[in-house]
Amino acid sequence: MKHASKLIRQHILSLLSDGQFHSGEVIAQQVGLSRTAVAGHISQLSDWGLDVFKVKGKGYRLNRPFTLLDADKIKRHLPGNRLSTVQVASVLESTNTELKKKIANNRDELANGDTLFSEIQTAGRGRHGRQWLAPVGGSLTFSMYWSFPDGYQSMAGLSLMVGVAICEALRRMGIDDAQVKWPNDIYLGGKKLAGVLIEVEGQIGATAHSVIGIGLNVYVPAAQYDVGQPHTDLCSVLASEPDRNELAAHLVDSLHHHLNDFAAFGFGKFVPIWESLDLFADKTIVLQMGEKRFSGIDCGVDASGALLVETRDGIMRFHGGEVSLRGM
Ligand code: ATP
Repeated sequence: MKHASKLIRQHILSLLSDGQFHSGEVIAQQVGLSRTAVAGHISQLSDWGLDVFKVKGKGYRLNRPFTLLDADKIKRHLPGNRLSTVQVASVLESTNTELKKKIANNRDELANGDTLFSEIQTAGRGRHGRQWLAPVGGSLTFSMYWSFPDGYQSMAGLSLMVGVAICEALRRMGIDDAQVKWPNDIYLGGKKLAGVLIEVEGQIGATAHSVIGIGLNVYVPAAQYDVGQPHTDLCSVLASEPDRNELAAHLVDSLHHHLNDFAAFGFGKFVPIWESLDLFADKTIVLQMGEKRFSGIDCGVDASGALLVETRDGIMRFHGGEVSLRGM
Protein backbone atom coordinates (compact mmCIF):
# COMPACT_ATOMS: atom_id res chain seq x y z
CA MET A 1 0.00 0.00 0.00
CA LYS A 2 1.34 3.43 -0.91
CA HIS A 3 2.49 5.61 2.00
CA ALA A 4 0.15 8.48 1.02
CA SER A 5 -2.90 6.18 0.99
CA LYS A 6 -1.89 4.85 4.39
CA LEU A 7 -1.72 8.33 5.88
CA ILE A 8 -5.04 9.33 4.32
CA ARG A 9 -6.80 6.25 5.68
CA GLN A 10 -5.21 6.83 9.08
CA HIS A 11 -6.52 10.41 9.05
CA ILE A 12 -10.03 9.36 7.99
CA LEU A 13 -10.09 6.67 10.68
CA SER A 14 -9.10 9.05 13.44
CA LEU A 15 -11.65 11.65 12.26
CA LEU A 16 -14.52 9.18 12.11
CA SER A 17 -13.67 7.39 15.35
CA ASP A 18 -15.42 10.17 17.35
CA GLY A 19 -18.79 8.90 16.11
CA GLN A 20 -19.82 12.34 14.72
CA PHE A 21 -20.84 13.20 11.16
CA HIS A 22 -17.98 14.33 8.90
CA SER A 23 -18.84 15.70 5.49
CA GLY A 24 -17.07 14.26 2.47
CA GLU A 25 -16.26 17.80 1.39
CA VAL A 26 -14.47 18.74 4.62
CA ILE A 27 -12.55 15.46 4.69
CA ALA A 28 -11.59 16.02 1.05
CA GLN A 29 -10.23 19.49 1.87
CA GLN A 30 -8.26 18.19 4.84
CA VAL A 31 -6.55 15.41 2.93
CA GLY A 32 -6.21 17.33 -0.35
CA LEU A 33 -8.23 14.91 -2.47
CA SER A 34 -11.51 14.97 -4.39
CA ARG A 35 -14.74 13.87 -2.71
CA THR A 36 -14.84 10.90 -5.04
CA ALA A 37 -11.37 9.83 -3.95
CA VAL A 38 -12.40 10.17 -0.29
CA ALA A 39 -15.51 8.08 -0.98
CA GLY A 40 -13.20 5.45 -2.49
CA HIS A 41 -11.03 5.33 0.63
CA ILE A 42 -14.06 5.11 2.91
CA SER A 43 -15.55 2.34 0.81
CA GLN A 44 -12.24 0.45 1.09
CA LEU A 45 -12.21 0.93 4.89
CA SER A 46 -15.78 -0.34 4.99
CA ASP A 47 -14.77 -3.45 3.02
CA TRP A 48 -12.06 -4.02 5.63
CA GLY A 49 -14.61 -3.95 8.47
CA LEU A 50 -15.26 -0.29 9.35
CA ASP A 51 -18.93 0.03 10.31
CA VAL A 52 -19.62 3.35 8.56
CA PHE A 53 -22.68 4.84 6.86
CA LYS A 54 -23.49 7.95 4.86
CA VAL A 55 -26.39 10.38 5.13
CA LYS A 56 -26.99 12.79 2.26
CA GLY A 57 -26.21 16.36 3.27
CA LYS A 58 -24.53 15.29 6.53
CA GLY A 59 -21.68 13.05 5.53
CA TYR A 60 -20.14 9.92 6.98
CA ARG A 61 -20.58 8.56 10.47
CA LEU A 62 -19.66 5.41 12.35
CA ASN A 63 -22.43 3.30 13.81
CA ARG A 64 -20.40 3.15 16.96
CA PRO A 65 -17.57 5.46 18.05
CA PHE A 66 -14.38 3.90 19.40
CA THR A 67 -11.09 4.97 20.93
CA LEU A 68 -8.19 4.45 18.59
CA LEU A 69 -5.27 2.37 19.77
CA ASP A 70 -2.35 4.56 20.75
CA ALA A 71 1.16 3.22 21.44
CA ASP A 72 1.90 5.94 24.02
CA LYS A 73 -1.31 5.24 25.93
CA ILE A 74 -0.56 1.51 25.92
CA LYS A 75 2.96 2.18 27.21
CA ARG A 76 1.61 4.46 29.93
CA HIS A 77 -0.46 1.54 31.25
CA LEU A 78 2.58 -0.77 31.23
CA PRO A 79 4.33 -1.15 34.57
CA GLY A 80 8.09 -0.42 34.63
CA ASN A 81 10.35 0.36 31.73
CA ARG A 82 10.48 -2.32 29.11
CA LEU A 83 13.21 -2.55 26.53
CA SER A 84 10.73 -3.92 24.02
CA THR A 85 8.62 -1.64 21.87
CA VAL A 86 4.92 -1.32 21.24
CA GLN A 87 3.79 -0.08 17.83
CA VAL A 88 0.35 0.57 16.40
CA ALA A 89 -0.34 0.48 12.66
CA SER A 90 -3.59 1.56 11.03
CA VAL A 91 -3.77 -0.97 8.20
CA LEU A 92 -1.71 -4.12 7.71
CA GLU A 93 -2.26 -7.35 5.86
CA SER A 94 -1.71 -9.17 9.16
CA THR A 95 0.45 -8.38 12.17
CA ASN A 96 1.96 -11.89 12.03
CA THR A 97 2.90 -11.43 8.37
CA GLU A 98 4.47 -8.06 9.13
CA LEU A 99 6.61 -9.40 12.00
CA LYS A 100 7.65 -12.38 9.89
CA LYS A 101 8.85 -9.92 7.22
CA LYS A 102 10.83 -8.11 9.90
CA ILE A 103 12.42 -11.38 11.03
CA ALA A 104 13.47 -12.05 7.44
CA ASN A 105 14.78 -8.54 6.70
CA ASN A 106 15.66 -6.70 9.93
CA ARG A 107 15.97 -9.34 12.61
CA ASP A 108 18.65 -7.37 14.48
CA GLU A 109 16.12 -4.62 15.15
CA LEU A 110 13.79 -6.99 16.99
CA ALA A 111 13.88 -7.62 20.75
CA ASN A 112 11.90 -10.12 22.77
CA GLY A 113 8.49 -8.72 23.62
CA ASP A 114 8.31 -6.26 20.70
CA THR A 115 4.64 -5.95 19.87
CA LEU A 116 2.76 -4.74 16.84
CA PHE A 117 -0.94 -3.88 16.90
CA SER A 118 -3.05 -3.06 13.86
CA GLU A 119 -6.45 -1.35 13.82
CA ILE A 120 -7.21 -3.11 10.55
CA GLN A 121 -5.98 -6.39 9.15
CA THR A 122 -6.83 -6.86 5.51
CA ALA A 123 -6.01 -10.58 5.64
CA GLY A 124 -6.20 -11.68 9.29
CA ARG A 125 -5.50 -15.40 9.62
CA GLY A 126 -6.25 -18.34 11.89
CA ARG A 127 -4.65 -21.77 11.70
CA HIS A 128 -4.42 -23.56 8.35
CA GLY A 129 -5.08 -20.32 6.47
CA ARG A 130 -8.55 -19.85 7.97
CA GLN A 131 -9.85 -16.31 8.13
CA TRP A 132 -9.90 -14.20 11.31
CA LEU A 133 -12.68 -11.61 11.36
CA ALA A 134 -12.06 -8.39 13.29
CA PRO A 135 -14.46 -5.43 13.01
CA VAL A 136 -12.53 -2.17 13.03
CA GLY A 137 -12.42 -0.68 16.55
CA GLY A 138 -14.16 -3.75 17.98
CA SER A 139 -11.23 -6.04 18.56
CA LEU A 140 -7.56 -6.31 19.31
CA THR A 141 -5.32 -7.88 16.70
CA PHE A 142 -1.62 -7.95 17.47
CA SER A 143 1.58 -10.00 17.42
CA MET A 144 4.52 -10.29 19.79
CA TYR A 145 8.03 -11.41 18.87
CA TRP A 146 10.05 -13.81 21.03
CA SER A 147 13.19 -15.78 20.21
CA PHE A 148 14.17 -19.17 21.58
CA PRO A 149 17.95 -19.74 21.31
CA ASP A 150 17.53 -23.46 22.04
CA GLY A 151 15.36 -23.90 18.96
CA TYR A 152 11.96 -25.40 18.20
CA GLN A 153 12.05 -28.09 20.88
CA SER A 154 12.20 -25.45 23.64
CA MET A 155 8.89 -23.99 22.38
CA ALA A 156 6.75 -27.03 23.19
CA GLY A 157 3.51 -25.90 24.81
CA LEU A 158 3.95 -22.24 23.80
CA SER A 159 0.40 -21.75 22.44
CA LEU A 160 -1.06 -23.22 25.64
CA MET A 161 1.06 -20.95 27.83
CA VAL A 162 -0.09 -17.96 25.76
CA GLY A 163 -3.69 -18.98 26.55
CA VAL A 164 -2.86 -18.89 30.26
CA ALA A 165 -1.25 -15.45 29.86
CA ILE A 166 -4.37 -14.11 28.10
CA CYS A 167 -6.65 -15.45 30.86
CA GLU A 168 -4.44 -13.69 33.43
CA ALA A 169 -4.68 -10.40 31.52
CA LEU A 170 -8.48 -10.79 31.35
CA ARG A 171 -8.58 -11.33 35.12
CA ARG A 172 -6.95 -7.93 35.53
CA MET A 173 -9.87 -6.51 33.50
CA GLY A 174 -12.39 -8.15 35.87
CA ILE A 175 -13.05 -11.34 33.91
CA ASP A 176 -12.14 -14.39 35.94
CA ASP A 177 -13.99 -17.16 34.12
CA ALA A 178 -12.21 -17.26 30.75
CA GLN A 179 -11.15 -20.75 29.71
CA VAL A 180 -8.69 -22.32 27.30
CA LYS A 181 -9.43 -24.77 24.51
CA TRP A 182 -6.49 -26.90 23.45
CA PRO A 183 -4.30 -25.93 21.75
CA ASN A 184 -4.88 -22.27 20.89
CA ASP A 185 -8.24 -20.71 21.76
CA ILE A 186 -9.75 -18.71 24.61
CA TYR A 187 -13.39 -19.20 25.51
CA LEU A 188 -15.85 -17.27 27.62
CA GLY A 189 -19.25 -18.63 28.56
CA GLY A 190 -18.60 -21.61 26.28
CA LYS A 191 -18.01 -19.41 23.20
CA LYS A 192 -14.85 -18.37 21.44
CA LEU A 193 -13.47 -15.03 22.61
CA ALA A 194 -9.94 -15.06 21.23
CA GLY A 195 -7.61 -17.07 19.04
CA VAL A 196 -3.85 -17.55 19.03
CA LEU A 197 -1.75 -18.16 15.94
CA ILE A 198 1.92 -18.94 16.50
CA GLU A 199 4.31 -18.97 13.57
CA VAL A 200 8.00 -19.78 13.74
CA GLU A 201 10.96 -18.90 11.54
CA GLY A 202 14.41 -20.44 11.82
CA GLN A 203 16.52 -23.44 10.88
CA ILE A 204 16.47 -26.73 12.77
CA GLY A 205 19.18 -26.63 15.46
CA ALA A 206 19.34 -22.82 15.49
CA THR A 207 17.44 -20.04 17.27
CA ALA A 208 13.71 -20.22 16.67
CA HIS A 209 12.08 -16.84 16.05
CA SER A 210 8.44 -16.95 17.08
CA VAL A 211 5.59 -14.64 16.21
CA ILE A 212 2.71 -14.91 18.64
CA GLY A 213 -0.44 -13.57 17.00
CA ILE A 214 -3.62 -12.87 18.95
CA GLY A 215 -7.10 -11.78 17.93
CA LEU A 216 -9.50 -10.89 20.74
CA ASN A 217 -13.13 -9.79 20.45
CA VAL A 218 -14.06 -6.59 22.25
CA TYR A 219 -17.29 -5.67 20.44
CA VAL A 220 -18.23 -8.28 17.88
CA PRO A 221 -21.96 -8.85 18.49
CA ALA A 222 -23.07 -12.28 17.33
CA ALA A 223 -26.28 -10.79 15.90
CA GLN A 224 -24.21 -8.68 13.51
CA TYR A 225 -21.20 -10.88 12.75
CA ASP A 226 -21.17 -14.49 11.66
CA VAL A 227 -17.66 -15.88 12.12
CA GLY A 228 -18.66 -19.45 11.33
CA GLN A 229 -18.83 -20.70 14.91
CA PRO A 230 -20.32 -19.51 18.22
CA HIS A 231 -18.33 -16.56 19.50
CA THR A 232 -18.53 -13.91 22.18
CA ASP A 233 -16.94 -10.57 23.05
CA LEU A 234 -15.94 -8.60 26.15
CA CYS A 235 -18.78 -6.08 25.80
CA SER A 236 -21.32 -8.89 26.31
CA VAL A 237 -20.00 -9.62 29.78
CA LEU A 238 -18.60 -6.36 31.13
CA ALA A 239 -20.84 -3.59 32.47
CA SER A 240 -19.07 -0.99 30.35
CA GLU A 241 -16.89 -1.11 27.26
CA PRO A 242 -13.28 -1.84 28.19
CA ASP A 243 -10.55 0.63 27.33
CA ARG A 244 -8.75 -1.14 24.48
CA ASN A 245 -5.46 0.62 25.28
CA GLU A 246 -5.58 -0.57 28.89
CA LEU A 247 -6.55 -4.09 27.80
CA ALA A 248 -3.70 -4.06 25.27
CA ALA A 249 -1.24 -3.10 28.02
CA HIS A 250 -2.45 -5.91 30.31
CA LEU A 251 -2.05 -8.40 27.49
CA VAL A 252 1.44 -7.20 26.60
CA ASP A 253 2.51 -7.20 30.24
CA SER A 254 1.05 -10.62 31.02
CA LEU A 255 2.56 -12.17 27.89
CA HIS A 256 5.94 -10.66 28.65
CA HIS A 257 5.90 -11.95 32.20
CA HIS A 258 4.72 -15.45 31.25
CA LEU A 259 7.11 -15.70 28.30
CA ASN A 260 10.09 -14.94 30.54
CA ASP A 261 9.02 -17.77 32.86
CA PHE A 262 8.29 -20.10 29.96
CA ALA A 263 11.70 -19.42 28.38
CA ALA A 264 13.39 -20.22 31.70
CA PHE A 265 11.34 -23.21 32.90
CA GLY A 266 9.39 -24.57 29.92
CA PHE A 267 5.69 -25.42 29.88
CA GLY A 268 5.85 -27.90 32.79
CA LYS A 269 5.21 -25.33 35.48
CA PHE A 270 2.09 -24.10 33.64
CA VAL A 271 0.42 -27.52 33.43
CA PRO A 272 -1.67 -27.22 36.64
CA ILE A 273 -2.92 -23.74 35.81
CA TRP A 274 -3.68 -24.69 32.19
CA GLU A 275 -5.66 -27.71 33.38
CA SER A 276 -7.61 -25.55 35.85
CA LEU A 277 -8.69 -23.40 32.88
CA ASP A 278 -9.41 -26.26 30.46
CA LEU A 279 -12.85 -25.87 28.81
CA PHE A 280 -13.15 -29.62 28.22
CA ALA A 281 -11.53 -30.99 31.41
CA ASP A 282 -12.86 -34.53 32.02
CA LYS A 283 -15.35 -34.15 29.15
CA THR A 284 -15.82 -36.31 26.08
CA ILE A 285 -14.16 -34.72 23.08
CA VAL A 286 -13.63 -35.43 19.40
CA LEU A 287 -10.29 -34.86 17.70
CA GLN A 288 -10.17 -34.40 13.98
CA MET A 289 -6.90 -35.04 12.11
CA GLY A 290 -7.54 -34.74 8.40
CA GLU A 291 -9.93 -37.62 7.64
CA LYS A 292 -9.27 -39.37 10.96
CA ARG A 293 -11.40 -38.84 14.06
CA PHE A 294 -10.72 -39.92 17.63
CA SER A 295 -13.02 -39.53 20.58
CA GLY A 296 -12.29 -39.92 24.26
CA ILE A 297 -12.08 -38.11 27.57
CA ASP A 298 -9.93 -35.01 27.95
CA CYS A 299 -7.40 -35.90 30.68
CA GLY A 300 -5.34 -32.71 30.57
CA VAL A 301 -1.91 -32.07 29.10
CA ASP A 302 1.68 -33.16 29.65
CA ALA A 303 4.78 -30.99 30.10
CA SER A 304 5.22 -30.73 26.31
CA GLY A 305 1.69 -29.38 25.88
CA ALA A 306 0.42 -32.61 24.29
CA LEU A 307 -3.25 -33.36 24.99
CA LEU A 308 -3.90 -36.56 26.92
CA VAL A 309 -7.03 -38.39 25.83
CA GLU A 310 -8.42 -41.51 27.41
CA THR A 311 -9.66 -43.79 24.63
CA ARG A 312 -10.76 -47.43 24.44
CA ASP A 313 -7.10 -48.27 23.67
CA GLY A 314 -5.74 -46.39 26.68
CA ILE A 315 -4.31 -42.90 27.04
CA MET A 316 -3.34 -41.32 23.73
CA ARG A 317 -1.20 -38.21 23.33
CA PHE A 318 -1.94 -35.58 20.70
CA HIS A 319 0.33 -32.75 19.59
CA GLY A 320 -1.03 -29.46 18.14
CA GLY A 321 -0.23 -29.23 14.45
CA GLU A 322 -3.00 -30.66 12.35
CA VAL A 323 -5.35 -31.59 15.19
CA SER A 324 -8.66 -29.79 15.81
CA LEU A 325 -10.62 -30.40 18.98
CA ARG A 326 -14.41 -30.22 19.40
CA GLY A 327 -16.84 -30.98 22.23
CA MET A 328 -19.51 -33.67 21.95
P1 ATP B 1 -8.97 -25.30 15.76
O1 ATP B 1 -9.69 -26.00 16.85
O2 ATP B 1 -8.40 -26.20 14.73
O3 ATP B 1 -8.02 -24.27 16.24
P2 ATP B 1 -10.67 -23.11 14.97
O4 ATP B 1 -11.97 -23.13 14.23
O5 ATP B 1 -10.67 -22.54 16.35
O6 ATP B 1 -10.14 -24.59 14.96
P3 ATP B 1 -8.56 -21.24 14.27
O7 ATP B 1 -7.61 -21.36 13.16
O8 ATP B 1 -8.05 -21.24 15.66
O9 ATP B 1 -9.63 -22.38 14.06
O10 ATP B 1 -9.38 -19.89 14.07
C1 ATP B 1 -9.97 -19.58 12.82
C2 ATP B 1 -11.48 -19.78 12.93
O11 ATP B 1 -11.99 -18.99 13.97
C3 ATP B 1 -12.21 -19.35 11.70
O12 ATP B 1 -12.31 -20.40 10.78
C4 ATP B 1 -13.59 -18.94 12.24
O13 ATP B 1 -14.45 -20.07 12.36
C5 ATP B 1 -13.28 -18.50 13.64
N1 ATP B 1 -13.22 -17.02 13.78
C6 ATP B 1 -12.89 -16.09 12.85
N2 ATP B 1 -12.96 -14.86 13.37
C7 ATP B 1 -13.36 -15.02 14.65
C8 ATP B 1 -13.63 -14.13 15.70
N3 ATP B 1 -13.50 -12.80 15.58
N4 ATP B 1 -14.02 -14.65 16.89
C9 ATP B 1 -14.16 -15.97 17.07
N5 ATP B 1 -13.93 -16.87 16.11
C10 ATP B 1 -13.52 -16.41 14.91
